[in-house]
Amino acid sequence: MTLNIDDMASFCKRKGFIYPSAEIYGGLAGFFDYGPYGVELKKNIINEWWKFMVNSRSDVVGMDGSIISPESVWQASGHLENFSDLMLVSEDGSFEVRADVFLEEKLGKSFDGVSADEVNNLIKDNNLTGPNGKKFKTCESFNLMFPLSIGAKKVKGYLRGETTQMIYLDYKLIQQNARMKVPFGIAQIGKAFRNEISPRNFLFRCREFEQMEMQFFIDPKDRETWFKYWQEQRTNFYLNLGVKREHLRYRAHEKGELAHYAKRAEDIEYKFPFGWKEIEGIHDRGDWDLSTHSKHSKQKLDYFDEEKKESFVPHIIETSAGLDRTLLLLLYEAYEDDKERGNIVLRLHPKLAPIKVAVLPLVKKGGLKEKAQELFDSLKLDFVAFYDESGSIGRRYARMDEIGTPYCVTIDFDTLEDGTVTIRNRDTTEQKRVKIEDLRKELVF
Ligand code: ATP
Repeated sequence: MTLNIDDMASFCKRKGFIYPSAEIYGGLAGFFDYGPYGVELKKNIINEWWKFMVNSRSDVVGMDGSIISPESVWQASGHLENFSDLMLVSEDGSFEVRADVFLEEKLGKSFDGVSADEVNNLIKDNNLTGPNGKKFKTCESFNLMFPLSIGAKKVKGYLRGETTQMIYLDYKLIQQNARMKVPFGIAQIGKAFRNEISPRNFLFRCREFEQMEMQFFIDPKDRETWFKYWQEQRTNFYLNLGVKREHLRYRAHEKGELAHYAKRAEDIEYKFPFGWKEIEGIHDRGDWDLSTHSKHSKQKLDYFDEEKKESFVPHIIETSAGLDRTLLLLLYEAYEDDKERGNIVLRLHPKLAPIKVAVLPLVKKGGLKEKAQELFDSLKLDFVAFYDESGSIGRRYARMDEIGTPYCVTIDFDTLEDGTVTIRNRDTTEQKRVKIEDLRKELVF
């Protein structure tokens, strides 16, 4: 794992995973497009998360909420007042940076949860300036929500800063429609938008990104049990996808660092080349969200326990993971510069591989192309398959290694004689001869 983040970004661009968005117009920091292999990888992560969190359980159901919502939602949730970071701006306005990120870079330790007064003192005491010795103005807070004006009447709305608010707004309907009993969860995957002051480190901090979130509604007396349970489950999710345990750790939030909604928060952190960084938060949100929405909307959002014949406002344990950060860490886990082979091998879990199987005629002539295309056609609806006839077979294997394709199937002149093909395994480079009718049994994911 020696690749720095800029080299990872150029690898992803070169290999068709991720591009800086609108690059031909100069781009815009914090926005990215997913290319052909990036989009397949992302879809596979989504599928694994959804299977793990929703389809394999009877106590969690899914939803897909809208991205834009009226101001009242974000007023009630506390985001308009509290969802902000501290910003340092140079006196001439030419340089701006997130204060805790700047201090961490300059002073070499974490400043999560630092206050504006502390920032001002640290800047003064350590004589810190921006590029070319530019002095800073007094540190101020900057709200991360993206405002919008909706329709001809210009109704004020916002792009969601987190996916989860829609879950709280719909929770009662979902609980009733899906006949869920506390404890139960609602999961959602989708885009979130934050007007980050300093987007950096490629996919790690974007202004538009995706979250995979689940809100688990509980009786407050069970909070410890469920917090621990979901911590373990979420760790298992990463381990199941091949992430090494020693690359993961937990970090509990200090009191001053807790988000406005959180009673307790622990991050799962991954060891990126630029340090241990958050990939997912497990949050005890208490009854903050349902109570505040109930107060502002004047709707009852409590839950009636049929057995105990009593109503209460459920508390919430949240698991909130970033899809783009997950994708980035999975690329780091998989990336290997194999000196012996002379090419990169992306050792992605086969379930995650963007292309599952490549079909390669040894040469185009002598009927091999037609035979290979026939095989490709028979596979492509069941597996994400890829057909490639250009370049030497070694070069084609290397190209598939680089995007993590677990299997390459080669059609040669023997195929025309005896109906067998060669399967090459990405991880071992082992080649095996099998009959075409037995091929599917060999493709294991
Ligand atoms: P950070 O402290 O890094 O800003 P956060 O604590 O604000 O993150 P949460 O609000 O808990 O993050 O969001 C849950 C998850 O969403 C994070 O663990 C992360 O994976 C993802 N996420 C948050 N902000 C971004 C971003 N700007 N770009 C990409 N992913 C993000």
